[in-house]
Amino acid sequence: MPLDERKRYLVTGGAGFIGSAVCRHLINETPHHVLVVDKLTYAGNLASLAPISGHARFRFLKADIADAEAMENVLREFKPDVLMHLAAESHVDRSIDRPADFIHTNVVGTFVLLEAAYRYWCKSLQARADAFRFLHVSTDEVFGSLGGDGLFDESSPYRPNSPYAASKAASDHFARAWHRTFGLPVVVSNCSNNYGPYQFPEKFIPLVILNALQERPIPIYGRGDNVRDWLHVEDHARALVLIAERGEVGATYIVGGGNERTNVEMARDLCRLIDELAPAARPRDRLIQFVDDRPGHDLRYAVDSGRIRQELDWAPREDLQGGLRKTVSWYIRNEAWWRPIRERVYAGERLGRRN
Ligand code: NAD
Repeated sequence: MPLDERKRYLVTGGAGFIGSAVCRHLINETPHHVLVVDKLTYAGNLASLAPISGHARFRFLKADIADAEAMENVLREFKPDVLMHLAAESHVDRSIDRPADFIHTNVVGTFVLLEAAYRYWCKSLQARADAFRFLHVSTDEVFGSLGGDGLFDESSPYRPNSPYAASKAASDHFARAWHRTFGLPVVVSNCSNNYGPYQFPEKFIPLVILNALQERPIPIYGRGDNVRDWLHVEDHARALVLIAERGEVGATYIVGGGNERTNVEMARDLCRLIDELAPAARPRDRLIQFVDDRPGHDLRYAVDSGRIRQELDWAPREDLQGGLRKTVSWYIRNEAWWRPIRERVYAGERLGRRN
């Protein structure tokens, strides 16, 4: 299927961090039409879509993916070729404080969407039904924690540890079951940790950058030796479009950057970059403070993305140092994006201890 054929993409969660990167990629780099469906929770932000919101091929609908009637209507009216499902509650600490929201969106919402997609697919004309894809976007956190060595791959067993990971694991299983039982053309992707512009500042990298810029303490959970495998969000966005268009129906694709760092190494690297790009009187790494660990904190995630590299000819374009430099510069230049969030939505307070 050529990538330049004009398609209709319905993107759930398109006002979030990764969803908005997918939409900017689709509008700027492809001829496709895009409809975003997003509830605009604390993590959804129309400002992340501002660069493309006036485009003739772009539309936005505020709706909850768990609203069955709304989902059936939007599918019937928009008639997508691809349903890329990114809407989720995605913040692990909040899943410790309020797991019910994660069940509502990640589990019930995904089920409602699969049902609506199935009905839409059954009623579609043959050519559209044959081309239709439901891409379920998920995380490597469903596989649990690695020890010091080894990598997750497409055959890794599911061992989710946090309420967030458990809710995403459940949604992966439903997506797979709607393919195996009902024939819905589902593809699943599991990606490692993303970083880049427009990320909600509760996530590790923007939290470190913004606290460092504002010369506030930089909290690091435990001893800071947890390892994550980082991928630039724009490389993930390209991977998702490739998987949607060329991925094998019923398959899973693992996506990752192959960039393992401990949290404390990452915080120190970011402090050095910020000292260089926005000099201050004191080196920023003096702001680092070790705090009580997250309950059930997974030690290490790292993935083997050999399948997508070989079968779909995907490779990340950003190396970690270049990507981090661009990301820090972006947050320095885009205070108008993050200041309202820090002042009105999330100021950097500790979440996820449930006490
Ligand atoms: P995010 O929290 O930045 O964005 C989630 C978006 O979903 C928000 O715009 C929010 O308003 C929307 N949303 C939440 N509940 C909704 C509902 N009930 N109905 C409609 N919209 C709703 O998340 P993200 O980091 O962009 O992650 C997107 C997807 O990618 C998630 O499924 C996540 O599990 C997965 N993922 C994330 C990462 C990462 O590092 N951030 C890594 C791998 C996979």
